[in-house]
Amino acid sequence: MNVHDSERLSGLLEDAGYARAAEDTTADIVVFNTCAVRENADNRLYGNLGHLRPVKDANPGMQIAVGGCLAQKDRGEIVRRAPWVDVVFGTHNIGSLPTLLERARVQREAQVEIAEALEHFPSTLPSRRESAYAAWVSISVGCNNTCTFCIVPALRGKEKDRRPGDVLAEVRALVEEGVTEVTLLGQNVNAYGSEFGDRQAFSKLLRACGEIEGLERVRFTSPHPRDFTDDVIEAMAETPNVMPQLHMPLQSGSSKVLKDMRRSYRQERFLGIVEKVRAAMPQAAITTDIIVGFPGETEEDFEQTLHVVRESRFSMAFTFQYSKRPGTPAATMDDQVPPEVVKERYQRLVELQDQISWEENQKLVGREVELMVSEGEGKKDGAHRRLSGRAPDNRLVHFAVGDSEPRPGDMVTVEVTYAAPHHLVADSGVRNLRRTRAGDAWDARQGKPVQISKPDVLLGMPKIGAPAEEPAPVGGCCDA
Ligand code: SF4
Repeated sequence: MNVHDSERLSGLLEDAGYARAAEDTTADIVVFNTCAVRENADNRLYGNLGHLRPVKDANPGMQIAVGGCLAQKDRGEIVRRAPWVDVVFGTHNIGSLPTLLERARVQREAQVEIAEALEHFPSTLPSRRESAYAAWVSISVGCNNTCTFCIVPALRGKEKDRRPGDVLAEVRALVEEGVTEVTLLGQNVNAYGSEFGDRQAFSKLLRACGEIEGLERVRFTSPHPRDFTDDVIEAMAETPNVMPQLHMPLQSGSSKVLKDMRRSYRQERFLGIVEKVRAAMPQAAITTDIIVGFPGETEEDFEQTLHVVRESRFSMAFTFQYSKRPGTPAATMDDQVPPEVVKERYQRLVELQDQISWEENQKLVGREVELMVSEGEGKKDGAHRRLSGRAPDNRLVHFAVGDSEPRPGDMVTVEVTYAAPHHLVADSGVRNLRRTRAGDAWDARQGKPVQISKPDVLLGMPKIGAPAEEPAPVGGCCDA
């Protein structure tokens, strides 16, 4: 959500006539888009602002703006602690940024403007997308849940749903521009429709995305187990361009801790959903988020989390050591777990999950997968020059390109030759290269002449060299 908001902020500023500053130059405007979910967000913000102070002193025309969740939370506190900041804006009024910058310049004083409710749905604002071929599409913002560890409802407000027609119009417009992958975005995507009274709106939206010609991959993040209904599983399984991938936050495997977290599902419900997803889509990769050391978590509770991890066989998990977030109910709960206990449990969880991730990845060795090629320089490793791509289930694969010249957004078919816990390697060559409209869109961004690939062109590629003995990941890619 935060990354998508940053794309909107860039788009707004470009629309207002600003241009991206070249590297190694001093920008006229610096915008911090903050995230209060992250630990120590405030320390990092004030540290960064402190570093910028001498730069601003040397360049008095420079303007500094702070937005996002931390700005929504701290409001006027930011200009009190860092009076050299020019603009503070909140999560509900990112569209005001150009006006506030202008007003601060004319009036020569800091502008702090925090709206209490959403002014514009972010997707109606201009955007400068980071990727030429993959896009975020916001379907809802805010959340009606009240998880006791989470600051989101306080800062992003109640859930607001976009109308399905608006969402689909945006997806179609993106596809026209060359985008072939969209990720539907919301704090709780499968509650989508609750605002306009259609409990099956999310599964209908997935099916409608399946009708859009040229849209190859649809993903979504994140669903809540409470609202995960069978119609969503059926829509995922029956809609070919909805990818076999599910990120479903567990948070804890203990029903008692889930109750304390005010997450209204229990262990059995979570495992029941996993079972249904596996039955409908045996090839699906399921990933999750887990918090270790929530207040009151006992060793027995933690064992329940390990039990769910063993049963669910997640392909990957984002694991977090609980730490207090000021302003959340959990921050003042009794029974905070000592940090050394949290750390020790966390290490056990990571060890178990890494082992499972590795075992699940090993099952793919010898299989063919079609990858969407990611952006990045690639890296030479021994005899191989490797690029990276994402499999349909979103696994990261580093592949040897041989003589092929895929562009970001193109599709390549490769055979997996090696598995590590957090990535796969395919070193036996590109079996097929499919040049796509997404690759054309990427070429166009680079200013290269574009021949529209319509229909997609299939090129059979010869096999290249033997797999390297010790494959290494490609630099510049994130395993997570
Ligand atoms: S469902 Fe997600 S966004 Fe909503 S309160 Fe819970 S953790 Fe926060």
